[in-house]
Amino acid sequence: MPLMRIPYTAPLPPPTILPTSAATFPGAVAALADFLRPPATDNNGKTVILSGAGISVASGLADYRGSNGTYTLNKTYRPIYFHEFCANHEARKRYWARSFLGWTNLHKSRPNKAHYAVGQLGELGTLSSVITQNVDSFHPKAHPGLRTLELHGYLRNTVCLSCRTEYSRERFQKDLADLNPAWAVFLAEMLESGALSTENPVERRLKGLKTNPDGDVDVPGIEYGSFRYPACPVCLEKPPDGSRVEQDADGAWLPSSTAGVLKPAVIMFGESIPNGVKLAVESAVDEADRILVLGSSLATYSAWRLIKRAQEQGKAIGVANLGGVRGEEQFFAKVPAIGLGRDGVRCSLPLEEVLPALVDRLRLGTSTPLLRTEMFKPAPWG
Ligand SMILES: [Zn+2]
Repeated sequence: MPLMRIPYTAPLPPPTILPTSAATFPGAVAALADFLRPPATDNNGKTVILSGAGISVASGLADYRGSNGTYTLNKTYRPIYFHEFCANHEARKRYWARSFLGWTNLHKSRPNKAHYAVGQLGELGTLSSVITQNVDSFHPKAHPGLRTLELHGYLRNTVCLSCRTEYSRERFQKDLADLNPAWAVFLAEMLESGALSTENPVERRLKGLKTNPDGDVDVPGIEYGSFRYPACPVCLEKPPDGSRVEQDADGAWLPSSTAGVLKPAVIMFGESIPNGVKLAVESAVDEADRILVLGSSLATYSAWRLIKRAQEQGKAIGVANLGGVRGEEQFFAKVPAIGLGRDGVRCSLPLEEVLPALVDRLRLGTSTPLLRTEMFKPAPWG
């Protein structure tokens, strides 16, 4: 059965923190340290990470269900589905116009402390690999030495639906600007006004823009009909057998074509995950000893089933996510409320703070008491 990326937008119940000591910041750090602690004699005692949109929020990107998330602020948000993109020229114009506006901000954003901390956890020998649902390329940028498997693809490239050739999205942006000069002027004005560069999603919305985690932007009252996008250069040169690829005088794909459509190299909603990726992430789960979810509510089935798979193999599960996780009660049914964290952890604190503290703690060794100055809160009368 093909594995598809399908969104799940219903609200989730709040988390039950486990062990209960993980409700405080130092308690969560201690529990995660115990969860990740490599066994002294076991080479295979490593953890695979599964990360989601929550880890990129501190980089200025939106998530889906956080307090500033797409599903929270934009109740009518409905992502484009793969079949619409493939079948409909108008839907593609709309998608590429919004992506054209959203790309600059995404392209400028950088990995944050949480991504770098994941790299450092890898250097400490605790991790086997990282599976990410994110399409922002932050994991491979932050830790090229630690393997990243991108479950839902990546925005850094486009891919031809006919011949599967990939091209740089950065170059594609330039092509879009050349084909749509009025849009390029509009984008320059938006950038000038700061409407796209503010890191605060609420501010962005006040300026009339809605950005979404897949890097596109909603602009109210805009007409997409005139937007143009280029054809795949390989298919243009040599159309696949029995197909036709045509462009206008400026190089824009014409709807009389039957091939050569470029798509972002992300797995769109309703699109099947390539079998090679599916097998690679499954074996990453199978090879690891335990699995730690960072910043994901496991709302997409493709991510949820990996945790389910780990559970069926009897592996310990950790989840660090602000807010609820789909079906989490079943993942933690056997984790004691009083414990150190080795059997499982559920905490709900900002990753860009917890993960660097976790790295420090593991570097110091678990025998050293936790004494980071920034964790000290002086008594109010002090
Ligand atoms: Zn092609």
